Amino acid sequence: MIRNQPSCGGWIEAVCGPMFSGKSEELIRRLRRAEIAGQAVMIAKPRIDDRYDIGHVVSHSGHRIRAVGVDDPGAIVRMAAGCHVVGIDEVQFFGGEVVDALVALADGGMRVIAAGLDLDFRGEPFGPMPQLLARAELVDKLQAVCLCCGGPATRTQRLVDGVPAPFDGATIQVGALDAYEARCRGCFEQGDAHSWGEQTSFAGL
Ligand SMILES: [Zn+2]
Repeated sequence: MIRNQPSCGGWIEAVCGPMFSGKSEELIRRLRRAEIAGQAVMIAKPRIDDRYDIGHVVSHSGHRIRAVGVDDPGAIVRMAAGCHVVGIDEVQFFGGEVVDALVALADGGMRVIAAGLDLDFRGEPFGPMPQLLARAELVDKLQAVCLCCGGPATRTQRLVDGVPAPFDGATIQVGALDAYEARCRGCFEQGDAHSWGEQTSFAGL
């Protein structure tokens, strides 16, 4: 694997993959390394994600680092002033303008590490991720373990009452273990195209 990082100037690292692939852990690991080296570090995440306590990013394994919830990508740029490294968790929940914001930070000399789901529960590219991955210097696509066959999982299966969520269901639904499974391409099931009763959703964001 080629790992040449610029010795000067900024750049963008993207960490993507399905749920349960360790994206937040990897983000926190990289930020901790920078922190230990005495660099000023910040994590931003969309305010919509309040699964755990606001003010921290918590991975499924329980590691945590201080984080700031923001409503729009412009706030990331404003709050990142003075930082050496900026991490963004759940970056897929932001709109397309997040790409411009992160490019601006990297152009300004900052190291940017963005973690997020590359695919939604339909197996389709998630929001700003294609543009972000194309513009990043470094991309890591992490794998989880398929809950059905034990193979490497690249997709997030959403289950509603134990069956695959319909294809036209809301894209964004912040949830936990009982509603989502990591699955491989072969075990991933496409939901039917008909609607079901509206679940808690943040589709308006
Ligand atoms: Zn499988």
